[in-house]
Amino acid sequence: MSVKQRLQTIQQHIAKACEKTGRSVSDVQIVAVTKYVSIARAKEAIDAGIVHLGESRTDGFLQKYETIGKEATWHFIGTLQSRKVKQIIDYVDYVHSLDRLSLAEEINKRANRTIKCFVQVNVSGEQSKHGLAPEDVLPFIETLSAFSRIQVVGLMTMAPYTDDEATIRYCFRTLRELKERVQEKQLPHAPCTQLSMGMSNDYVIAVEEGATFLRLGTCLVGEEEVE
Ligand SMILES: *Cc1c(COP(=O)(O)O)cnc(C)c1O
Repeated sequence: MSVKQRLQTIQQHIAKACEKTGRSVSDVQIVAVTKYVSIARAKEAIDAGIVHLGESRTDGFLQKYETIGKEATWHFIGTLQSRKVKQIIDYVDYVHSLDRLSLAEEINKRANRTIKCFVQVNVSGEQSKHGLAPEDVLPFIETLSAFSRIQVVGLMTMAPYTDDEATIRYCFRTLRELKERVQEKQLPHAPCTQLSMGMSNDYVIAVEEGATFLRLGTCLVGEEEVE
């Protein structure tokens, strides 16, 4: 199936979830996660109207960026090693995986403009997941005021991989409540208006719970297909 066809189906699901919860579809952006697919497939997403592209590894990011460049808004969504920051920092618009002070320091040192960052939160507490424990998020964000190149635009999480809707919903709702607590602080460096949550298997629940950036790989660009 073409990206365009897949996108239409996804947009219908988003519209329905928005209608159900009184949200506006214009508040929900799709980041096409292209880590599994070719540059051609990523371009197909752009041609289908996608603006945001996401990659989770620096080499994949650079490969795609080399060809697609400024045609897209670029999101780095994966775990970012501090020593790799300098390779990509000039090209990224958003980093979704800020989860430690040493990474903030490195971004701040290497960037020559403001970088929009999501603080990654491990809401589910799974050992395998990166991100801060919920109770550490607010103090962490407060310390980021020392870094002039970092703007905390929002929070990011990954829900557990499960069919249990209640577990997923709890995870997204907790992130939203945490975001609201950060917003209440009215920190100049941390407007924290955005929620990066929802992947192929759980994005409808994420929209219902307030997601503003969905990170969609499999369901949107899929595994590579010959058409
Ligand atoms: C791969 C990845 C996604 C996309 O996953 P799908 O289930 O294929 O939609 C989203 N977020 C992160 C952090 C990822 O690494």
